[in-house]
Formats: sequence, structure tokens, C-alpha cells
Amino acid sequence: MPIDRLWFDPSELLIGGVWRPAPAALPIEDPSTGSEIGLLGRGTAADIDEAVAAAGAARQGDWGRMTAAERGRILARIGQMVLARADDFAVIEATDVGKPLTQAKADALALARYMEFYAGAADKVMGDTIPYLDGYTVYTLREPHGVTGHIVPWNYPMQIVGRSVGAALAMGNACVLKPAEEASLTALAFARIAAEAGLPPGALNVVTGLGEEAGAALSSHPGVHHLSFTGSVAVGRLIQTSAAAHIVPVTLELGGKSPQVVFADADLDTALPFLVNAGIQNAGQTCSASSRILVEQSRYDDVVSRMAERYAALRVGPALLDLDLGPLISARQKEIVEGFLAMAPEGAVAARGTVLADAPKGGHYVAPTLLAGPGPDHPLAQDEIFGPAQVVIPFEDEEEAVAIANGTPYGLVASVWTENGARQMRLAKRLRAGQVFLNNYGAGGGVELPFGGVGKSGHGREKGFEALYGFSVLKTVAARHG
Ligand code: NAP
Ligand code: MG
Repeated sequence: MPIDRLWFDPSELLIGGVWRPAPAALPIEDPSTGSEIGLLGRGTAADIDEAVAAAGAARQGDWGRMTAAERGRILARIGQMVLARADDFAVIEATDVGKPLTQAKADALALARYMEFYAGAADKVMGDTIPYLDGYTVYTLREPHGVTGHIVPWNYPMQIVGRSVGAALAMGNACVLKPAEEASLTALAFARIAAEAGLPPGALNVVTGLGEEAGAALSSHPGVHHLSFTGSVAVGRLIQTSAAAHIVPVTLELGGKSPQVVFADADLDTALPFLVNAGIQNAGQTCSASSRILVEQSRYDDVVSRMAERYAALRVGPALLDLDLGPLISARQKEIVEGFLAMAPEGAVAARGTVLADAPKGGHYVAPTLLAGPGPDHPLAQDEIFGPAQVVIPFEDEEEAVAIANGTPYGLVASVWTENGARQMRLAKRLRAGQVFLNNYGAGGGVELPFGGVGKSGHGREKGFEALYGFSVLKTVAARHG
């Protein structure tokens, strides 16, 4: 590995501005080869206690007294420093997570962009003055929660750290970050840079380790005032339950089974790359992956065969070779995905991509698979696979399209492909999702665009200006002056 690109020791935790060795270590795996490339700190509940205390102290100290403009200036510096080292971030992420280099570089640029966006936004969050009784002046203040906990998954570490820690810091919160055990390196790199950029000690603390140890300690800690979690529904439920013990607000970004709905009048040449890329990007390990493609009956065969052509050309191999897909994150994830694919009915595989013949045997490679045949109620069309597989499903008319699109417990994103403007407007309202895209999918990541789910996809919004409301609390001040 290019673990030599690391300019720090990943077995250290950041608590109160001090890097110190963790009490124990965990192996770091390169999913492209399956080999161990270093040691990660395994923080404990005691480390979380200290990190929460350090964050509380930062709120009482320099960080808590800083003006919004000064916070913005620090975020801007962090953004510039991430940009300057974007290639290092990309190589580290590609090696740690297995994502192709170009995708890892895009994540590094998104991390910088989150810093820029929240740098500019920090001093533009304003309250209201509210007309009230004679002799009163009433206004609102937006204040930080205090100490915020951030539990981040392994699939997009840089983007998710950027969107949640960036917005929380902009509002003046002090953060305790628990990255995913399988992908912590760029979170540590980010914290190093943030300190160099002048972020005061304790404003950002990083405790790496296991979800059930460090993560559970953070989500149940009485000193944490807000929790931001991205990951699985099962763990999201645990987080919300433990937050309930202290009546702490949570933002949950969970999974999805996001549809793209293709009508007969769609511009297929434009749609095709979106249809496929939204399923195979990051080897399908994307909460907003589009794993269901719903197609009006008259174009169904056409869409399946044109998607199949693209699938057949997809190549899978080590992240640093920068092919269409890298490996999955772990042997466990590969096993889960292969378990799903084994459920495909006879004859349902419309096409498969190719894993390079000389890809390292220890890597967690799965060929992307296009499925045509499982109906809308089949587990392959209902459950989040979190791997490179898409199901194509036909529909008769708009009513049926909406029923199938809304017919899962999830509601993260959805897209509609049609040239009919009235239909676009109707479906934008009728689709049950936190984001709806008309004649596109994903809108290039959308740092500026509020993001989050309904139903089992979670609640609360991150990204964009809206996140600043989630990472703050409104105070109403009523003055009676006669
Ligand atoms: P996960 O278990 O939900 O992990 C997400 C984060 O929660 C990680 O930092 C994890 O730490 C932590 N965590 C785990 N158990 C915890 C606990 N008891 N208390 C507090 N924190 C805890 O997700 P995963 O194992 O990475 O993936 C499993 C499935 O989740 C995937 O197959 C996919 O369906 C879904 N997923 C969704 C998203 C999304 O963006 N919506 C992202 C990733 C995964 P450790 O990893 O260190 O244990
Ligand atoms: Mg790793």
C-alpha cells in the first residue's frame, strides 16, 4: 500500500487536541487484496468519555467564543488544505475502501467543497424578529446544540464526514466523530488537516474503533446533545433508541431502494448512462444507489438490452487500476451480496460485467449483475442489496409506476425520465422520497442540495443550507419593554 502516503499514525486517537495511542488496535484491510496494511486505534468507552468532555470544554473555551465569521474562515482554510492534498486523500481512500481512484478523487473534492460551502454559510444563518403584543420585541436566535456525535459508515467516508462535521462546526458545535472500523483513514487525515488549519483543540475529536464499543458509547453518552448517524436501518434503530434515553435529537440517514422511472417518451440516449452509473457507482455500496429501474412496457425490452450492453462492458479490479468498479468493502459484504444474487430466479440474469482474471484472489470482487425478471415484491426488488446489482421492472401506466416506485419501506431518492412536463410535476409530488430528480439522477452529488429520507430511509436533512438548521436549535427571546 501506499500506506506510505499516510503522514500520520492511524493507531492514534484525537482527543482534546492531543493525538495519543489507543488502548488496543484493529487490523486495517485493503479490500482490493484482502491484506493487512496497518493498525487502527480501537477506542473504548473511556476514550469516548474523554472525547465528550474535551468537546464540552471546547464549547466553554475558545471555540465556543469564536464568531461565526471566524469559524467560517477556519473551514475555508481546511477546504483549501484538503484541495491541496486531494490526490493523497484519493489514494488513501481508494486503498482503504476499494473505490476506483477517480471516484475517490471525486469524494476528496466533495469534502473540500463541503468545507467551502459551510465556510461561506457559517455567518449567514439568521434569526427572525416576530411581530407580537404591544410593548414587546421578540426575536429568535440559532444556537449550536453543544456537543454533537457523528457516526459515519464506510461507503463514503469523506463525503459523510464533510457534510455532517462541516455543518456542525459551522454552527459552532464541538464534534466527536466515530468513523467506520473498515474505513477510518481519511477521517483521521481530515482531523490532522483541520488542526493544522487552526481548528481549536476539542472542537473535533476522533475516536476510531468498533461500532458496538466506541459507537455505542457515543450514542448513549449523556454529554452528547445531538447525534448524526449514517448507516444501516438496524443500527439506526439502536441509535435512535439509545438517544431516546436522554431525549437527544438524531438525524438518521439510512438505506434505500431508489427507483428510476422511465416512460416511453424518455430520451434514452441521455438516460442510459445515468440508469447504469447510479447502480454501479462505488460497486453499488451507495445509500442513494438506484437499484430499481422501472420501465414502461413498450420500451422494456429496449432498455434491458441497452443496459445489458453497458453491463457487459463493465470491468472490475483493484481500486488503483481505476476501472468501472473496485472490490466490495469486505468478505462479509461480498457474502451478503452473493447471497442476494443467488436468489435470482432462473434466467433472470440479463448481463454481467467482468472481474479481471488477474485481480488479486484475496480481494472482495463481485461482477455487476443486471436482473430482469424478479417482480416488484421479490426480495431482490425490495431489500437493499448494497452491491452492484439492479433489477429492471416493467409497468403499464403512470398509476402502476407510482405504486411500484412507492412500494418499498424506503424513500430516499427517485428519478423520472419523461419529456412530458405535466407528468414530471405530478410525479415529483407523488413519489415518496427525500429527493426527486427529473431527467437526471443524483445531480452530481449535490453538496448544496438538502438530502435525507422518509420511511425506513431515515429522518432529518443533511447537506445544503438546511443542515445548518438541523445542527442548531432555535431560541425565542421575548422582551417586554412597555
Ligand atoms: P452499520 O453497521 O450501520 O455501520 C454504520 C456505522 O455505525 C459504523 O461507524 C459502525 O461502526 C457504527 N455502528 C455499528 N454498530 C453500532 C452500534 N451498536 N452503536 C453505535 N454505532 C454502531 O453499517 P455497515 O455494517 O457498515 O453496513 C451494513 C449495511 O448498512 C449495509 O449492507 C447497508 O445496507 C447499510 N449501509 C447503509 C449506508 C447508507 O449510507 N445509508 C452506509 C453503509 C451501510 P463499525 O463499522 O466500526 O462497526
Ligand atoms: Mg479498509
